[in-house]
Amino acid sequence: MGAGPGGYVAAIRCAQLGMSVACVDEWLNRGEPSLGGTCLNVGCIPSKALLESSHLYATSSNDFPDHGINVKGVSVDVKAMIARKDRIVKELTQGINGLFKTNKVKLVHGHAYVSPGKVVNVSDRGSPHTRESLEAGNIIIAAGSSTVRLDRAPITDGYIFDSTGALDFDSVPKTLGIIGAGAIGLELGSVWSRLGSEVVLLEALDTLLPSADKQVSRAVSRSYKQQGLDIRLNARLLSATVKQKKVHVTYEDTRGAQQVKFDKLVVAVGRKPNSDGLFGDELGLEIDEREYIHVNNYCETSVPGLYAIGDIVRGPMLAHKASEEGIMVAERIAGQPSAVNYDLIPNVIYTHPEVAWVGKSEYACNSAGIPANIGTFPIAASGRARAMGATDGLVKIVAHQETDRILGVHVCSAQASELIAQAVIAMEMGASAEDLALTMFAHPTLSESVHEAALAVHNRAIHVKN
Ligand code: FAD
Ligand code: AMP
Repeated sequence: MGAGPGGYVAAIRCAQLGMSVACVDEWLNRGEPSLGGTCLNVGCIPSKALLESSHLYATSSNDFPDHGINVKGVSVDVKAMIARKDRIVKELTQGINGLFKTNKVKLVHGHAYVSPGKVVNVSDRGSPHTRESLEAGNIIIAAGSSTVRLDRAPITDGYIFDSTGALDFDSVPKTLGIIGAGAIGLELGSVWSRLGSEVVLLEALDTLLPSADKQVSRAVSRSYKQQGLDIRLNARLLSATVKQKKVHVTYEDTRGAQQVKFDKLVVAVGRKPNSDGLFGDELGLEIDEREYIHVNNYCETSVPGLYAIGDIVRGPMLAHKASEEGIMVAERIAGQPSAVNYDLIPNVIYTHPEVAWVGKSEYACNSAGIPANIGTFPIAASGRARAMGATDGLVKIVAHQETDRILGVHVCSAQASELIAQAVIAMEMGASAEDLALTMFAHPTLSESVHEAALAVHNRAIHVKN
């Protein structure tokens, strides 16, 4: 049930393993059935398409003169940018149709509802009538999540948007407010700020990116500030109303109630699991207090033969986590002893610089009494970063003091999303900081910063004072 990165990947893996598979999905993109769920239609992919376009624009406007490149009259065509994003989404979502065909996955468009006896009833969206019933030996629920809405800031055509709306503006708003400075708020804020909006992010917490390493979070905050992103912490939204073609926002901070006006407002305060309307009480499926379907480490629900994966269950709401759970469940149904390593889920925020981390932070080790050595390398000391003109950030490696095993890696840098994969591979292989230190890295690359941070764990970094 569901053809997002959890469901479609599970369906393909089940088919590869010789099962007869049907995948039911109800997503409509501009009125047309479209596979890929949130990630491909209104999440990972369209946001990265716009981040890429806006980064190119910002680079050409701000950085080209420094490179000795003179271009005149650089301007933004928002409609063309959005059309490019839509084209990429279409190509990729249609690609999944192709993959389903090759793998002989039966695709059923419609709303799925599980009844006792492992029956999936499919209806047309909004219709109470079952159009088709499917009986299955096993059912994987991968119905995903949707945006959390705030009554205090109701979605209002042309003025107050959720993340989906913010991927479809038809012009650059002069002023843009964003409620929530999590990954989604920061990425969308970056897109529109690079294209010329004055962006203010209101964040209820007192720290930016509280799950990231503190040094990384401080480094990236400085970069955001330099880029003109106005991030106000301790700022809790009280109300948002549209008056005289502006969104009037009231929020509360440490000094009391504050008021600010925007041309547009985006609410990006998180996502909630889509566990409503999927089954009735008679099924006996356990749901937790935050409406996630309760599962164990193998994504087994309280009902035998019924599994749930991705955003609809505990853990970070990330596409790669959903897909890995899908593969694990498919393989376990086929009798293989697969498992997901929940300790090594990489987290990435695709701003500039990017922020990425995996494993434990220095702070988490200190709090848990785990003795750790730390190796840090400033990106400014990397020759490649200087050549690129992207010198903000650092790489930090946390290794166990006694075993030297790498416990966590934290990166703030251009292409941190790519650098973090090296850390995940090393940690999956149980590498020590010395293993990385003994590995040869090509010069000049950003990856050398990972090498230098590993050397720094033992105070032997070359291009920085230890
Ligand atoms: P979904 O992708 O939500 O898919 C669920 C599917 O199930 C949907 O197609 C839905 O229509 C269908 N469905 C639901 N109920 C039913 C039903 N009853 N019957 C039939 N079909 C049903 N994650 C990352 O890892 N990297 C990123 O860069 C990233 N960027 C993001 C940017 C934005 C703006 C947003 C909103 C999200 C982003 N995410 C990112 C999160 C990522 O999109 C989700 O974690 C991922 O899509 C979850 O996959 P899923 O398969 O669990 O659910
Ligand atoms: P994420 O959960 O990463 O998608 O980020 C959502 C962010 O929105 C979190 O950092 C929350 O602290 C923040 N947030 C949630 N509710 C509010 C609110 N009412 N006002 C401001 N920020 C909020």
